[in-house]
Amino acid sequence: MPDAKQYRKDDVNYRQYEKCGTCNYFYYPNVCEIVQGNISRDAVCDKWEIQSKKEAMDGDSYQAEYDKANKDKE
Ligand code: SF4
Repeated sequence: MPDAKQYRKDDVNYRQYEKCGTCNYFYYPNVCEIVQGNISRDAVCDKWEIQSKKEAMDGDSYQAEYDKANKDKE
């Protein structure tokens, strides 16, 4: 089944830089809502957006979001 996410890493200038972990699209520990593949929290791309809705989340909350995002893949 093809990945339904919008972007490939090459499309959005994905690179090493400490930002994904603060991005609104990032889900702990290594998932991005819009960019395909394994995402490092110490990387960034041109679609970076400051966290808003997840700003106050702790590690457990990130884990819950991650589990939710991956439940369909099981
Ligand atoms: S910076 Fe880009 S790759 Fe990283 S979480 Fe945000 S949108 Fe995804």
